[in-house]
Amino acid sequence: MEQVEPTSAVARTFILKNVRIFHGAGFTECQSIAITGDKIGNNLESSSEIIDCAGYFLIPGLIDAHVHLQHEGHLHELARHGVTTALDMAMWPADKMNGLRGKRGLPDIRSAGLPVTAAGSVHSCMLPLPKEALLSHPDQAEAFVQSRITEGSDYIKVISDVPGPTQETLNAVSAAAHIKDKLVVAHASAFTPFNMALEANVDVITHSPRDKVVSGTIAQRMVKNDVISVPTLTMMRATSSRPPIGAVLGMAISKPSVLSAIIRAKRSGQGPQTYANARDSVAAMYRAGVPVLAGTDCHEEPNSFFDVKHGDSLHTELELLVEAGLSPLDALRAATVLPAKHFRLLDRGIITEGKRADLVLLRGDPTNDIRASRTIERVWCGGIEFRRPV
Ligand SMILES: [Zn+2]
Repeated sequence: MEQVEPTSAVARTFILKNVRIFHGAGFTECQSIAITGDKIGNNLESSSEIIDCAGYFLIPGLIDAHVHLQHEGHLHELARHGVTTALDMAMWPADKMNGLRGKRGLPDIRSAGLPVTAAGSVHSCMLPLPKEALLSHPDQAEAFVQSRITEGSDYIKVISDVPGPTQETLNAVSAAAHIKDKLVVAHASAFTPFNMALEANVDVITHSPRDKVVSGTIAQRMVKNDVISVPTLTMMRATSSRPPIGAVLGMAISKPSVLSAIIRAKRSGQGPQTYANARDSVAAMYRAGVPVLAGTDCHEEPNSFFDVKHGDSLHTELELLVEAGLSPLDALRAATVLPAKHFRLLDRGIITEGKRADLVLLRGDPTNDIRASRTIERVWCGGIEFRRPV
């Protein structure tokens, strides 16, 4: 492959030639494609800058449907690994969330902003959440949703857990969000909260139960109600492993309320928590026809027991989805076409004229072996090539 020019801070017009292009159901034969500014164009005469990509595979920029962002460095890590859109699932205050938006040449983000939980939940003990996030009555739902919309949240996140918000509160938040045409994403990593989220008529359930496998009947109910799964198997695997004893002891001393909340949540489960339950739940949902999206729950928290890194973890997630039963093609769709469709990001997820020029050039074919998603040669975010800062 020819040597690349130095990074340009602006989107240019250029041609990629002799490249096989992912069209959502497979790869084309070798062809050429024009990139005009931040969009995919159609005029192959539009530029004299031609990049020969013979032997390479071009896929849409990857979408991680469950991230947590703290600072711009996370956007760099995501871009370096081919993730050009990141769907944040809890971030506050609003200034921080909105400060990470619209950064040229870096991944484009969407965010839930502040999530809903309740006093006494694991998350309320673990995270420095403002009181506004702790809902104790369904009457608070409408004002909460309106505040998020005013702040700029793209969708509403509820943390379904036991202990946590009541069924009535979950129902009220979901209904209030739907009146405002906002998607509702529910955290549910155990069987009972998973069913509560379904009962509340949410649109997306993120995580996958670790205490009991989702049955075929439940999966069919999800299909009937158009519910999407973002199982975050990477995080489910991490949280099913035993945390370092030193970290647990540190937590017991510094934050005893978190440990007692975790113990109460575990006691409310249907059985021992295992990764196999989470993985087999994904298999059941996939078999039933539930859209399964790739999301990682990547985060960086000083007190977290679990290490799920931005960017790299999405490739792990794709591998785990294939292990759970998805075909490599469907795993690739789970990080491109499907999240674009189900999160209403209609300007991306597929490589066709007029879409955002979010592109990843690979040396291998991930529909043949999903591990080839890691063979990244070049990445463009909105037509601007990403280069790791020196
Ligand atoms: Zn999360």
